[in-house]
Amino acid sequence: MDTQEKANKSSTVVINGDRCKGCGFCVYLCAKEVLAMSEETNQKGYLLPATVDEAKCSGCRLCEAICPDFALQVVTSGPETTTELDYE
Ligand code: SF4
Ligand code: SF4
Repeated sequence: MDTQEKANKSSTVVINGDRCKGCGFCVYLCAKEVLAMSEETNQKGYLLPATVDEAKCSGCRLCEAICPDFALQVVTSGPETTTELDYE
């Protein structure tokens, strides 16, 4: 992803609180400090992470990859970057 492409995209971290076990791996791993543990708990009593500075998210998806409970999803939106082929 080049700089201009990145500038045109934004990423959102969607947390499924029902799946989360409150391990904090996602918070610890995010070098951009997008996530932090909140004071909110799920029905099982686990503390949940929350996004505290989403604008800093690079969309790297490391938090999604590290979550042992598949409780995170990173959704990136922005202009499509597909290359159009011209056969004429
Ligand atoms: S996608 Fe990357 S930058 Fe964004 S919250 Fe996850 S680990 Fe942090
Ligand atoms: S890594 Fe997954 S289970 Fe652990 S705190 Fe983050 S969202 Fe919850």
